[in-house]
Amino acid sequence: MSDLIIDPEAAYIHITTNNTIEGSQFRDFPLTTVPLIGDMTSDLLSRKLEFNKFTMFYASAQKNLGPAGATVVVMHEDMLKDCVNTIPAILNYKTYAQNNSLYNTPPVHSIYMMKLVLEWVNQQGGIAEIEKMNIQKANLLYDVIDSSGGFYKGIIEKPFRSMMNITWRMIDEKLEKLFVQESEFHGFDGLAGHRSVRGLRASAYNAVPYQACKDLAEFMIDFQKRKG
Ligand SMILES: *Cc1c(COP(=O)(O)O)cnc(C)c1O
Repeated sequence: MSDLIIDPEAAYIHITTNNTIEGSQFRDFPLTTVPLIGDMTSDLLSRKLEFNKFTMFYASAQKNLGPAGATVVVMHEDMLKDCVNTIPAILNYKTYAQNNSLYNTPPVHSIYMMKLVLEWVNQQGGIAEIEKMNIQKANLLYDVIDSSGGFYKGIIEKPFRSMMNITWRMIDEKLEKLFVQESEFHGFDGLAGHRSVRGLRASAYNAVPYQACKDLAEFMIDFQKRKG
């Protein structure tokens, strides 16, 4: 973070706190005089974050908050001053702030489901407990990767590995394809990496149970025994 060169005249800095494609995650955030804006779509509610370093953060619902259709926006009131009136009303955050987020009919189903998810998070013991579980879930898979003697190769440097999206590569694309095929046969869905980076990717959002990660870890060990 200390190497970052930040233009003090910049209107804002925008960062995406978790990178779902490569599977990396910011651990620290810069302390700046420039407003810091965070897209937390893929890790809000998954871990403790230094929320007070952000002037604004937002997250669309579909990863950890509930079904698609709603977006949570949290911003410092001071920022509303900068909402100019040339922005159409429906796109202007000031409109939402002044109308209690009820300027138009919002997607009530998505919002109701989010309420249930927030209650569930509290029942789990809040973000701190969820974070502990997420670290355990991700480490089940990273441990298999790290003890595979290079059969599975992690992509991201250890300190920056994502607890949400666990990514790895294998010796060649043929073996990766076979892994995906066999994993589907065993009931695992969507383990092929993002089309822009390929490889493998297991997403372990809050709703993914510990047992699912355990089952995948066991499948990975078994696959290596058979193909390694
Ligand atoms: C998941 C995710 C997306 C993709 O969202 P879609 O609504 O499926 O396009 C975009 N940005 C971030 C930061 C995400 O985590």
